[in-house]
Amino acid sequence: KPIVAIVGRPNVGKSSLFNRIVGARIAIVEDMPGVTRDRLYQDAEWQGREFTLVDTGGLDFAEDVITAQIRKQAELAIKEADAILFLVDAREGLTSIDQEVAGVLRRTDKPVLLVANKVEQFDQSKISYFDFYQLGLGDPIPVSAAEGLNTGDLLDQLITLLPQPDEDPYPPDTIRIAVIGRPNVGKSSLVNAILGEERVIVSSIPGTTRDAIDTPFERGGKNYVIIDTAGMRRRKKIDLPTERYSVVRALRAVDRCDVTLMLIDATEGVAEQDKKIVGYAHEKGKAIILVANKWDLIEKDDKTMNKFERKFREELPFLSYSPILYISALTGQRLPKVLEMVDFVVEQASKRVPTADLNNLIREATQATPPPADKHRRLKIFYATQGGVKPPTFILFVNDPELMHFSYQRYLENQVRSTYGFEGTPVRFFLRRRE
Ligand code: GDP
Repeated sequence: KPIVAIVGRPNVGKSSLFNRIVGARIAIVEDMPGVTRDRLYQDAEWQGREFTLVDTGGLDFAEDVITAQIRKQAELAIKEADAILFLVDAREGLTSIDQEVAGVLRRTDKPVLLVANKVEQFDQSKISYFDFYQLGLGDPIPVSAAEGLNTGDLLDQLITLLPQPDEDPYPPDTIRIAVIGRPNVGKSSLVNAILGEERVIVSSIPGTTRDAIDTPFERGGKNYVIIDTAGMRRRKKIDLPTERYSVVRALRAVDRCDVTLMLIDATEGVAEQDKKIVGYAHEKGKAIILVANKWDLIEKDDKTMNKFERKFREELPFLSYSPILYISALTGQRLPKVLEMVDFVVEQASKRVPTADLNNLIREATQATPPPADKHRRLKIFYATQGGVKPPTFILFVNDPELMHFSYQRYLENQVRSTYGFEGTPVRFFLRRRE
């Protein structure tokens, strides 16, 4: 999916525009406790074209200096997005920071749309927003993100500039593994260790995108691809300390994978960015394995693993279904478990529950704990069926979907999991009204 980045200085209305564009979408996404709230990314769609919108403003916490930060933000967007929305404030007019950012953006061949925000009344706004022509980025598109004025026109223009989606070149049975984690967590070490033991079919290819290296390999008659987000660094010899945790790169890898290996440095714990990325993988319905690496550096007694497990569960409450592996990419400890677990969670994510069994289970569950009710009626589940796999998706035909409660849905999920497992994979429920 193409990535569209919103760039601009603070207070120009980046989050308003973000929310305006993805608004309709957010409403359908369930509000799940524990899933990260401050979304930097969200899928959006316009006229049937899908893209992922990224608010780059949130990607960088390191710098205090605004100008430097914005500059970096723009550079990041240039490097990793497919199109850029450069947002300026028509009420305030042109500022020197805008000029600086424009200077950076002019150097790219990626499409940049100059968007003049806070134009609530088109005729009055002329005064300030014509200044923006000076930026040399073409016609400013006037919008009001807050009121949704002209944002449709903006999106019309945007989608014509997006690249066509990549074709995935692998056979459909290929298990695609994304290796995610912040710099230095051991991604390259793990990838090398895994590939060292397996039959690599062709040498690494620069993926279908420019931001990961794909390495197809075969094991026990099965096809795999490792999507290695650290691979580009090795190619380009980018030195470690300056490497950032590239959220965009990670999101793209997650999008293309069947299984996300979320690497966590056992000596450092779960990072904020880890939570966001793995939250994205969860929302995308991807199987997820938590991999605590550098286990060799941890001083251990008989309670250490439990302690770590508790901490991980606490920090990633929405991933209660994910297995955790404690490995050392360096010494090879438990390395063989990694691919075993990959196979296992893919199998779990592909499992189908026979309809009769599912309906028995739901019936028993609703008898044990009655569904929620409002003043007038109780939720009634007439019939359940599994609508799909990867992730397992269940459709419940009910009298009124509005009567469902998050807690009751969680209860049903737990019932399904206690019988069928589904380890490592999110499961979904959809409610349909039956007349
Ligand atoms: P990446 O940035 O995530 O690709 O991380 P690298 O694979 O480049 O590893 C970063 C550093 O951590 C290197 O010096 C590795 O040797 C080291 N490292 C990786 N895995 C382990 C491990 O399991 N144990 C220890 N002690 N060091 C590790």
